Amino acid sequence: MSGLTPPPLKDDCFALPPGVDWTPVDEALDRLRAALHPVAAKETVPLFGASGRVLAEPIYARRANPPAPNAAVDGYGFAHKATGEGDVTLPLHPGRAAAGAPFAGMVPEGRALRILTGATLPEGVDTVVLEEDCAVDDSAIAFRGPIKPGANTRRAGEDFEVGQEVLPQGHHLRPPDLALLAAAGMADLPVFRRLRVAVLSTGDELTEPGDAPGPGGIYDANRPMLLSLLQAWGHEIIDLGAQPDDPNAIRAALDKGAEADAILTSGGASAGDEDHISALLTSEGHLTSWRIALKPGRPLALAMWRGTPVFGLPGNPVAAFVCTLIFARPALDLMSGAGWSTPLAVTVPAGFTKSKKPGRREFLRARLTPEGRAEVFPSEGSGRISGLSWADGLVELPDEAMEITLGTPVSYLPYAGFGLAPR
Ligand code: AMP
Ligand code: MG
Repeated sequence: MSGLTPPPLKDDCFALPPGVDWTPVDEALDRLRAALHPVAAKETVPLFGASGRVLAEPIYARRANPPAPNAAVDGYGFAHKATGEGDVTLPLHPGRAAAGAPFAGMVPEGRALRILTGATLPEGVDTVVLEEDCAVDDSAIAFRGPIKPGANTRRAGEDFEVGQEVLPQGHHLRPPDLALLAAAGMADLPVFRRLRVAVLSTGDELTEPGDAPGPGGIYDANRPMLLSLLQAWGHEIIDLGAQPDDPNAIRAALDKGAEADAILTSGGASAGDEDHISALLTSEGHLTSWRIALKPGRPLALAMWRGTPVFGLPGNPVAAFVCTLIFARPALDLMSGAGWSTPLAVTVPAGFTKSKKPGRREFLRARLTPEGRAEVFPSEGSGRISGLSWADGLVELPDEAMEITLGTPVSYLPYAGFGLAPR
């Protein structure tokens, strides 16, 4: 029996090691933002299917909306001039105006024409009365006046005019944007080519989902998560697989990844014996920055490999996820031409208590209670993958110390604000 005794657990076992230069989150973000620039070329894609793409040019309307003045309701159209204060009776003019079937003639002053929603206002019509407000027979309509001039009509160009910028360059297209662009007369759109992002997992323990794990094996949880995150963000993915902790295998995978615009790796990013990513990036790449004052997260390696930026994420899935949302997402957005992105944060009352120590930013797995309070996953253990799935977002706690009691305002970052579909 040796005389060795294990070291006692320290009270503050998560304290930052002395003498280490931890980069605050905001500084790391600033550095990233300054270091990167858009890399994607332009291409033209059909409007149908352009959702998720990023506009490479501002779009100016080719057609106004509405293109001509039209009826906002089903009813009867006439010249306002012919109406007065009290009850109004107008003889009916023969014919009707419908959407896509305009009335060809002119409606004489003092007469009313049957008109349907979306129909271009015929000459002689500037006002429409709702059919429900009318008494009608074969030859006339009657309604209570007064009616406002222009009632129930839409002015040409009231939504947007020809030549007006409807969307800026860098806009990330969503389904409602396609409606806007279709209405503006667009059929093809100038967009940035999708960013190509490669994903690599590293670790001798990693087992492909579906395979039988060997001794000490665990399933590769990061790759399915990261690949689908990237797809949700509109990037093209390159799967570099899970590689063992072997510098040659990792080098080969990184070389293949260098064809992409960016590489996300997970695992092996610390400075330990088996941390081959950071070792390789240091000896053969350019490791520019790491050790971010962030929980969960450290270490994060930011490096260049044969000209391609590498985001060396921590292996543990919770930290890998948080670092991807906080660092990789805005960085990739910037590279894709969409511009730097800041996650949506809403201030809500805490539904938990916590005494936060100073020195690093913390992200807690969280979700909203029906009352709108942020509740957090009971365990902060960064190995708890189930907490990621339990959560609908993150609570972001500042670098400084913070005493949180029930009701303390905290910053809640919904997953949806990171481009993930809400439940
Ligand atoms: P590392 O950063 O390589 O030291 O890994 C930190 C922890 O994360 C270890 O417990 C690893 O087994 C685990 N880990 C690394 N990569 C993955 C992965 N792709 N999926 C699940 N766990 C992982
Ligand atoms: Mg490892």
